[in-house]
Amino acid sequence: MDINIKLKKLEDLYKIYDDFVKNFNFSCKKYCSTCCTCNVTMTTLEGHYINKYLDNFKKLDLKIYVHKKRFKPQITINQIGYLCIKGQEIPIEENDPSWGECVLLENGECPIYQVRPFSCRSFLSISNCKDNGSAYVDPFILTVSEVLFQFIEHIDSDGYTGNLIDILIKLQGNEIKLIPNRHIHALMIPPENREKIKPLISEIHKCLK
Ligand code: SF4
Repeated sequence: MDINIKLKKLEDLYKIYDDFVKNFNFSCKKYCSTCCTCNVTMTTLEGHYINKYLDNFKKLDLKIYVHKKRFKPQITINQIGYLCIKGQEIPIEENDPSWGECVLLENGECPIYQVRPFSCRSFLSISNCKDNGSAYVDPFILTVSEVLFQFIEHIDSDGYTGNLIDILIKLQGNEIKLIPNRHIHALMIPPENREKIKPLISEIHKCLK
């Protein structure tokens, strides 16, 4: 699929999600960057989206972060879906927010907010994470987020998933180990949400036609 078609589909998926979450109240506010850690992951398609709209990012020297400790996923969301269907164990991956903040963060603000990846869009907490020590995400929003993650990987099935910095380094033309994306094998929707999520799934299917 042509990259511009894929980028348009990605933008439509972001819009579907952003419109969906408008109906909820969150504690998340401007300058609250508690969840902006160096462990954010994304797909190569999302990296292209950032590069397309923020040309100057292509020139940043990101290789200086290569040795920084960060979460490097070994498995994608669609691989997890596949393992669930097969009844196989999901590997546990180490991920610790104390490894540091997102290297893009500037004075508590995200310089790429308009084009931030889906991981960042779906960091939404009903309670204040700073006060409570952790986020609280409504279980239905969690299901919707996972489904959107699956579709984003699906449209980028010839691309890769990795840490945000690793993806941007890769798109600057450098060799870096990433994990290949996959098509959706099965959507991960708990039985109690299957009916409720149907309108949103049909909206997603329309945008992906
Ligand atoms: S990309 Fe932006 S929103 Fe996402 S973690 Fe980094 S600074 Fe925060």
